[in-house]
Amino acid sequence: MSSGDGRGLTSVDKLPKSSVLYLHASGARYDCQDCAGFIPESQACAIVQGKILPGDSCGYFMPGPPCSLGDQSLDVLSKLEAGYASAVEGASCKRCEYFSPEGDCHLVDKNSAGDDPDEICGDACCVLWEGK
Ligand code: SF4
Ligand code: SF4
Repeated sequence: MSSGDGRGLTSVDKLPKSSVLYLHASGARYDCQDCAGFIPESQACAIVQGKILPGDSCGYFMPGPPCSLGDQSLDVLSKLEAGYASAVEGASCKRCEYFSPEGDCHLVDKNSAGDDPDEICGDACCVLWEGK
């Protein structure tokens, strides 16, 4: 059995990449302006309620051109439910409080199936992102 890292979960307990929508999108800042849900004209989002700023982000980030999900908000999720947060410099693992600079995460199992085999990359992201 693996031991814990003293801060997060043991590797046995860590969550698989697939369950937290771990994603490594090349060149992405993982903020709203990079997201398929963003509606720039109305500063809105296809799924999240309220005013949405281009430099913010949430756990439902989907890479793609703005408005790919439509130009009308469905108002499905509150900002709280979506984990909406201000991410001034972009949201990615290297700006997450759970990231370990050696290429690991305190919450997510780097060895699970998904992008970046055997690694948590500083330029990836997932729904558990928390700013430092
Ligand atoms: S609030 Fe979330 S889903 Fe909406 S545009 Fe921003 S990152 Fe995308
Ligand atoms: S460092 Fe943060 S964003 Fe990256 S996988 Fe871990 S919890 Fe998710």
